[in-house]
Amino acid sequence: QAKDAGRGTWRFFEAEMNRRLQARKALEADLRRALAESRFTLHYQPQVDLDGRRLVGAEALLRWDHPTHGPLRPAQFIPLAEETGLIGPIGAWALAEACRQAVAWPSLPRIAVNISAGQFRRAGFVAMVERTLRETGLPPQRLELEVPEALLLVDTEAVIAGLARLRSLGVSIAMDDFGTGSSSLGTLRRFAFDRIKIDRSFVQGLRPEGEAMAIIRAVLGMSRALGIRTHAGGVEDERQAALLKGEGCEEVQGYLFGRPMTAEAFTTMLAARPPELALAGA
Ligand code: C2E
Ligand code: MG
Ligand code: MG
Repeated sequence: QAKDAGRGTWRFFEAEMNRRLQARKALEADLRRALAESRFTLHYQPQVDLDGRRLVGAEALLRWDHPTHGPLRPAQFIPLAEETGLIGPIGAWALAEACRQAVAWPSLPRIAVNISAGQFRRAGFVAMVERTLRETGLPPQRLELEVPEALLLVDTEAVIAGLARLRSLGVSIAMDDFGTGSSSLGTLRRFAFDRIKIDRSFVQGLRPEGEAMAIIRAVLGMSRALGIRTHAGGVEDERQAALLKGEGCEEVQGYLFGRPMTAEAFTTMLAARPPELALAGA
C-alpha cells in the first residue's frame, strides 16, 4: 500500500513537472513571437535629486504586453530570456528604444537602462552599446547603465575591462539593488562605480534608529569616502525622503515622485513639470 501511495506521489510529481515544462516551452515560444511582433514596451520612472527635487533622469523599465496573460513585469520573463539567450535581442531592443526616447526628450538629463548579468557577458555587448549610441545619436554622457552586484562575482577581469571601456566612452555605470548581493568593499574599490543604488528593501524598513537606517548610513558614508554618488529606490512617503535626505543621500526614485509610466505620460509630465522645476511635494 505504501508502495502504491509512493507511486501515486511520483505520478503526481511527473505530471506537475510536465505541466511546468510545457508552460515554460509555451512562454519561450511567446517570447520569440513577442520579439518578432514588437510586443515589448518601456515604462519610464522619474529620478529626482533630494535637495531641489528636480528631475535628474528616468529609469527605463521593460514591460511585455502578453496576448493572454496581460501585462507582464520583467521578473516574470527576464530569467527565461536569460536561459534561452533571448535576453540578447530583447536587451538590445530595450537599450535602443530608451536611447531613441531620450533623444526625443532633450530636456531630460539622463536615461538609465537596466542590464542583466547574462546580457552583459554576451560577446559583443560593449560594441552593441557603442553602435546603439552612434545610431541613435544619444550623447554617451546622457546614458547610465544599471548593473547588478552579481555581475562582479564571476569572470571579474573581463567584466571590469568591459565596464572600463564603457566609462571611457562617457557612459556612467550604476550598481543596482545594492545590499541584496554580496559585494564587498573590495569589489567596490576595484571598480569605481559612478553611482550606488540602494535597494528599496532597505528604504521600506526605514525607522529613525532601526537596523535599515544603520545600514543606509554605513553605505552612504562608504560611498562618500569612495567618491561614488548615491541613490535610493522605493521611496514611497515623505518620512522616508526626509530620513534619506538627513543622511545625505543625493538622489531617489519611488512612487512618492512618480510611478513608472508610459512614454506618452512621461512626455506630458515633462511638458507640465520641466526638469528645472521641483517635482511632487517640494
Ligand atoms: P530595478 O532596476 O531595481 O527597478 C526598480 C523596480 O522597483 C521596478 O520594478 C519598479 O517598478 C519598482 N519600483 C519603483 N519605485 C517603487 C516604489 O516606490 N515602491 C515599490 N514597491 N516598487 C517600486 P519592475 O519594473 O518590475 O522591474 C523589476 C526589475 O526588472 C528591475 O529592478 C530590473 O532589475 C529588471 N529590469 C527592468 N527593465 C529591464 C530591462 O530592460 N532589461 C533588463 N535586463 N532588466 C530589466
Ligand atoms: Mg534598475
Ligand atoms: Mg531594485
